[in-house]
Amino acid sequence: YFAKEGRSGVEVYLAEKDRNSPERLNLLGDLRRAVGDGELQLHYQPKVNLSSGRVEGVEALLRWWHRERGPVPPDDFIPLAEQSYLMRQITQYVIDAALEQVAAWWHSGLRVPVAVNVSARDLLDPTLPELLEAGLARLDLPPVAIRLEVTERILMTDQAYTADSVHALVELGVPLALDDFGTGYSSLVRLQRLPVCEVKIDGSFVQRLGKTADDERIVRSIVDLVRSLGLRSVAEGVESDEVAGYLREMGCDAGQGWWFAEPMPAGEMTTWLRARVDGHETTA
Ligand code: C2E
Ligand code: MG
Ligand code: MG
Ligand code: MG
Repeated sequence: YFAKEGRSGVEVYLAEKDRNSPERLNLLGDLRRAVGDGELQLHYQPKVNLSSGRVEGVEALLRWWHRERGPVPPDDFIPLAEQSYLMRQITQYVIDAALEQVAAWWHSGLRVPVAVNVSARDLLDPTLPELLEAGLARLDLPPVAIRLEVTERILMTDQAYTADSVHALVELGVPLALDDFGTGYSSLVRLQRLPVCEVKIDGSFVQRLGKTADDERIVRSIVDLVRSLGLRSVAEGVESDEVAGYLREMGCDAGQGWWFAEPMPAGEMTTWLRARVDGHETTA
């Protein structure tokens, strides 16, 4: 099992030191209750094709509305859950809820794949492919109705490359996407050998587009690299029309971010999708 790395040595040190702090144990206890009590909910954010404007899919993002604290961001509770058996339960909840939602959309004519984020341990869990296969069969969905997003740091390890679960997922036909690209240390060779079909460029690079020439070169070379490997590039964290324009000009395939839409509850997402998809159908 891979411990989540902090962005800096200081963060790692603090995380170690705080691992058993009363604060963390409290939050973990609350999270345990939250999983059972339905305090967790999925929001959805669309991924939009930069040249056609078509919706290519939506990403499911977990939300926790804590009774006393209000919203707790996933970056605060996912790393905590990853250190306990709770993560597996959370991933099961997320997969079940995402599958139910995509089935509702799919069977009403909105054929938008839903992407789910999975943690390292869950990706390597040998029961994950079975869970997905059973869910897809039960809901009469093709494997491409769902995809898994895994962060670069995890997917780039030898362990992931050789894992039976990863091979089983590929066999099953569930697409994998590499999340937060640019934040890890991937080599070109690795990227080429991985069974991913999509690379998501980390928002930290995307947001600096237009500010410095260096960042522009970085994003441009990632987009070129991804294309040369025959994969699709998706930019995360697109917050402005200007940035969307840069990306389009660079040949980036799709974008996701507040400029297009913020993550929203399923009901709002349905309305948003209906308006978009119906619009396309009438102009097609
Ligand atoms: P991620 O998968 O890279 O998701 C993208 C994050 O960027 C999301 O943060 C999203 O709300 C945020 N975002 C979207 N558009 C914009 C924008 O235009 N500007 C900026 N600044 N941010 C934007 P969120 O929802 O807080 O999630 C953070 C991370 O938590 C995710 O990063 C993912 O790694 C993890 N996560 C979220 N849901 C799940 C889940 O169900 N399971 C697991 N294992 N991890 C999850
Ligand atoms: Mg993601
Ligand atoms: Mg990301
Ligand atoms: Mg992220």
